[in-house]
Amino acid sequence: PRALANPLRPAILAAARSPRVKSAITRAPGTRSIVTRFIAGETRSDALVAARTLLDSGRMVSIDHLGEDTTDLTQARAAVAEYRSLLAELARLPEARTAGETRRLEVSVKLSALGQALPSDGRAVALEHAHHLCAAAQEAGVWVTVDAEDHTTTDSTLSIVTELRADYPWLGTVLQAYLRRTEGDCRDLSGPGSRIRLCKGAYREPESVAYQSRAEVDASYLRCLTVLMDGQGYPMVASHDPVMVDAAAASAAGAGRGAGDYEHQMLYGIRDVEQARLAAGGAQVRVYVPYGGQWYGYFMRRLAERPANLTFFLRSLATR
Ligand code: FAD
Repeated sequence: PRALANPLRPAILAAARSPRVKSAITRAPGTRSIVTRFIAGETRSDALVAARTLLDSGRMVSIDHLGEDTTDLTQARAAVAEYRSLLAELARLPEARTAGETRRLEVSVKLSALGQALPSDGRAVALEHAHHLCAAAQEAGVWVTVDAEDHTTTDSTLSIVTELRADYPWLGTVLQAYLRRTEGDCRDLSGPGSRIRLCKGAYREPESVAYQSRAEVDASYLRCLTVLMDGQGYPMVASHDPVMVDAAAASAAGAGRGAGDYEHQMLYGIRDVEQARLAAGGAQVRVYVPYGGQWYGYFMRRLAERPANLTFFLRSLATR
């Protein structure tokens, strides 16, 4: 039998979709103290405080206002307004003025938070909202990367990003190594100026579109990494896995890239010591900093990734 990346992962991700599980988890008294391990806080100022600490430690940031699967236009508009306020505050930081080189400030966004899943005209609404966001980011001196969501959104998301890159060539996108299509996408999208964040992938996907075993996902990640490093874009290596972190450095060196020609990315609160170690060693390291009230989906994906997180969480609920 092939080893699953994490045998509990599909079950946790499936249970996470149940409204009863959601209500039980969000109401449990102990939840909040564990959630704060993975998110910077519920407010914009919480995110800015976390970003300041990371920037002062030599790391770069990508700030994400938590939100996804929005089915209502008002909520999608509110998400855009929140990003605009965030970008206005980021524009005031000294780190916003780094034109021409790697931008130390970035925001990450999910198109489903901007309206992509709306029943009518979802694609057009998300495109228009993302356009506003990119214009504001350009003015602020901040980069944007569009997160990858489940595989049913991949074509729509990549086509929106391609369209936007005509006006905002610095716009980044995410490819997920667990998808069978991704090695091909890496080849297609590794042209000059492209910024691709390569991650393993965090959603529950069917065997028809995604590799299921850890070995297959890791092998795909390594193949994709080579394609991106050999390409002409700017690879963003999003992984906490020591194998992938080491492979990035080796593959970059093999492709004649210096430390400034790619970056490592990790999530807020995960392997903080390793993040600091890489940055101190001269690597570019960006930390994904999520904030906001809609932390449930993000939090459940982090629990599903690592059984130890789930055990820790359940134990803390049980001992209250
Ligand atoms: P794994 O093999 O899962 O983990 C390797 C080691 O890292 C573990 O042994 C452990 O030591 C540590 N670790 C990993 N996860 C955790 C955790 N949750 N808690 C504690 N320790 C942990 N996925 C998407 O589908 N779309 C995206 O847009 C997206 N953006 C991302 C952006 C960034 C910057 C990062 C780092 C990840 C992103 N992901 C995204 C998530 C990604 O797909 C993986 O689910 C996640 O990073 C875990 O895979 P891994 O490569 O870190 O390796």
